[in-house]
Amino acid sequence: MPESTWLEDLGRYINPGIARAYSFLGVLSPEVRAEGAFVYDAAGERYTDMGGGYGVMVHGYLHPRIVARAKAQLDKIALPSRSLPVLEPIALARRLAEITPGALQYSFFCNSGAEANEAALKFARARTGRATFVSTHGAFHGKTFGALSVSGRDLYKDPFRPLLADVRLVPYGDADALRAAVDDTVAGVILEPIQGEGGVIVPPDGYLRAAREICDAHGAMLIFDEVQSGMGRTGHYFACEYENVAPDFLTVSKALGGGIMPIGACVSTPDAVGFLDEMPLIHTSTFGGGGGGGAPLATAVACEAIDVMRDEDFCGQAVSKGAFLADGLRSIQREFPEVISEVRGRGLMLGLETAREGVGGMLMSELLHRRVLALWTLNNERVLRMIPPIVIPLEALEEVLRNIREAAAEVALVAADL
Ligand code: PMP
Repeated sequence: MPESTWLEDLGRYINPGIARAYSFLGVLSPEVRAEGAFVYDAAGERYTDMGGGYGVMVHGYLHPRIVARAKAQLDKIALPSRSLPVLEPIALARRLAEITPGALQYSFFCNSGAEANEAALKFARARTGRATFVSTHGAFHGKTFGALSVSGRDLYKDPFRPLLADVRLVPYGDADALRAAVDDTVAGVILEPIQGEGGVIVPPDGYLRAAREICDAHGAMLIFDEVQSGMGRTGHYFACEYENVAPDFLTVSKALGGGIMPIGACVSTPDAVGFLDEMPLIHTSTFGGGGGGGAPLATAVACEAIDVMRDEDFCGQAVSKGAFLADGLRSIQREFPEVISEVRGRGLMLGLETAREGVGGMLMSELLHRRVLALWTLNNERVLRMIPPIVIPLEALEEVLRNIREAAAEVALVAADL
């Protein structure tokens, strides 16, 4: 019997639909190695990852300082007994308290963005004794039951209903709609300071501040989900700093693991998690934390990730490289308005709105042929994301822009007939 190929095995043992999608896109070789902003497939082809590993790779793949820290930690302790305390999570929590805005201070560690949001939702209920949540259309907070319940796309929700019952969804960026939805029964309002999967939507100035005021007026908790927008990508450590607004709970994941480890965190103000004093084990997780736990390997790596972000001025780099990329993309948009209708975002969190249905897929496929990995958005099929590693060299961005121009020209030939 001939050996099956990796694509057949992917279809047979993991997910047939995904295997079909790779086949359709013409992906014939798996990735086997990566470095900085570049991924290499088994045939030795180099790709520039403008999707940054779905937003994880703010530091790029295998940043040397972060790899060194992981290796050193592996020689000491990776996972704890959980009977004695460990130091690395404490050091990380202290750093997070220092870099997050306002009074945010207490960290609960976990393994993913969805879990960080689960913690925030549960904490908001425990703090307020209320059940209702308010979220927004197009929101993406993860695919566990709670996080899914407050997400904004029915496609991912319908097969799993009933979800959390008391969820009100309002249009994103509309402070009046938010005001109308929040009353004294609301435990929390959950918002992405820039919607990622919704299509890289930057809210109008004043929206986050209005959300803060509305929550305060009703005793509701404000949760900012910075799982995608956090960690320097937008030009601030956290996107909510643009409006100088601090939430009661801030969730972070993706880039926190420095491109090496899965980790998430829910950072809370002392007031928002006062109940931990009496109930220290109310919300815990074996690999994540709570109750003094936390994984030494993941949290040591995350400490290094934060230090690298500071030492290498990721915020400054995101601003200058983001401006360069956005300028280039806007000039392509002016040349091919039938392909790209808008370029928006902050820093190196940019979205390309394509001019009509179907164009995004074609553009992605043309880019793939030119060895550029772009990313769609899960809740808005017309938008492609550019969220590359912050360490991406300027010359690589120039090359990407040349490739996008060529790809757009190719798509323009057929876009008019769609
Ligand atoms: N929140 C936001 C804003 C996200 O973008 C994502 C993932 N794209 C999540 C939560 C969920 O994170 P995870 O996939 O790690 O559960």
